[in-house]
Amino acid sequence: MTKRTVLTLLWVLVSLPAVAQVRVVTTFTDLADLVKQVGGNRVQVSALARPQDDFHLVTPRPSMALELSRARLFVRVGMDLDLWADDLLTAARNASILRGASGYVDCSVGVKKLEVPTGRVDPSMGDIHLYGNPHYLFDPVNAKVAARNILEGLKRVDPAHATEYQQNYEAFAQRVEEHLKRWQQALAPYRGAPVVVYHKSLTYFLQRFGLQELATVEPKPGIPPSPGHLREVVQRMKSAGCRVILVEHFRPRRFAEAVAREAGAKVVVLPVAVGAEGTSSYLQMVDTMVSRVAAALAGR
Ligand SMILES: [Zn+2]
Repeated sequence: MTKRTVLTLLWVLVSLPAVAQVRVVTTFTDLADLVKQVGGNRVQVSALARPQDDFHLVTPRPSMALELSRARLFVRVGMDLDLWADDLLTAARNASILRGASGYVDCSVGVKKLEVPTGRVDPSMGDIHLYGNPHYLFDPVNAKVAARNILEGLKRVDPAHATEYQQNYEAFAQRVEEHLKRWQQALAPYRGAPVVVYHKSLTYFLQRFGLQELATVEPKPGIPPSPGHLREVVQRMKSAGCRVILVEHFRPRRFAEAVAREAGAKVVVLPVAVGAEGTSSYLQMVDTMVSRVAAALAGR
C-alpha cells in the first residue's frame, strides 16, 4: 500500500461520520423504496416486513423492535394494514417515532380512501379492511401522496437537508406522472374489462386503470373461499366472458387455479411488494403489474 492510498483510506474513514444518514424504518418494502426516492443517500432505510410476507399477516420478531428503537423516522401504510407494528412500537421505547411525534409518518394521510364502511362494522364483514381498503399504494397517484408524507417527515427530522428532499420528491413525482401516462396507454384498450382478483388488494389499481373487479376468490377480505363461493365465481366469469384471475405473489394458487380451469381463464401472478418477482423499485413493481395485466387481457 502506498502512502497516498493509506492517506486516502484514512480520509474516507475520518469523513464517514460527517455523512451520518437518517435511519428510517418502514413497515413494507414499497414504502422503503419511496423513502429512498425522497431521501436519496441522506437516508438508511429498512423495511420490517419481507417481500414474501402476506401484508395482512406479518409476524413480529424481536429484531424488528430493535430496529425501531434506533430509527429516527418510522413510516407506515396506516389504516389497518400494519396494525401489527403497534406492539413493536411500544416495545421499541423510542418516543421520537410514536404516533404524533416528529418521527412518525402515516402515509395514508391525504389519500382518498375507498370502501370505507358506512355505519356499524360487524364481524360478518371480515376482520380486515376495517377503516376502508388499505391497499391504496397500488394506485400510482397515491404513491405520490405517500411520498409527500415521507417528504414532510424527513423535513421534520432533518431540516438541514429540506431543499434536497424537496427536489428529490419533485423528481419522483415527475417520474410517476411520466410512467402513469404510459401505463394508462397500455391498459386503455381494455377499459371496462372484467377481471377476478384473489383479495380486494387491487381496488385502487383497477379503478385508476378503468378495469372492473367482477368478483373476488375470497368471499370477504381474509376469509378463505367455500366450494359454493368458488362455483358462483366460475358462473359469473362465464357469463361475463372474464378470462383473467389476478393473484398476489404470496398467495396459494390452488383456489385460483381451480376456478381458472372451470372458467377457461388464466391465473396471472402479480408482484404486490417491492422485491417480489424480481422487482427492485416501486415503479418497476407497478410496471410489471401493468404489463402482466395487459398481456393477459390481450390473450397473450
Ligand atoms: Zn387487504
